[in-house]
Amino acid sequence: MYTTKLGYWLGRLGHVSGGPPKVSHFLGRACTGSLATKGRLLDRHVAADGMCTLCGCEYEPIVHAIFECPEVKSVWENSPMATHINDVPKESFFALFNWLRERLNKGELLRCVTMAWAC
Ligand SMILES: [Zn+2]
Repeated sequence: MYTTKLGYWLGRLGHVSGGPPKVSHFLGRACTGSLATKGRLLDRHVAADGMCTLCGCEYEPIVHAIFECPEVKSVWENSPMATHINDVPKESFFALFNWLRERLNKGELLRCVTMAWAC
């Protein structure tokens, strides 16, 4: 669902130009903390547990689902983004994305966000 709040954030994030709309939509959801990870579903009382279905850790926040889960971490470690991903702040996806946005060119940022969407 496209909301006014999501539209505001997509505009504020300055877009990821050249990417498919679903990637931008994913980015907006991740940055606003509304991506439906198991942890988020538990927080909203939609799921009975917040357990990551890939690695079994008890709580799956957005950053875990996309970057820190051992099951997806190797994808990042073997990508051209490996040097950037190791140093990113991981307290929130928004902080992580802003950090990347300041360091990557548009093409690199689009590849990174597309990889995050695919994870
Ligand atoms: Zn996991």
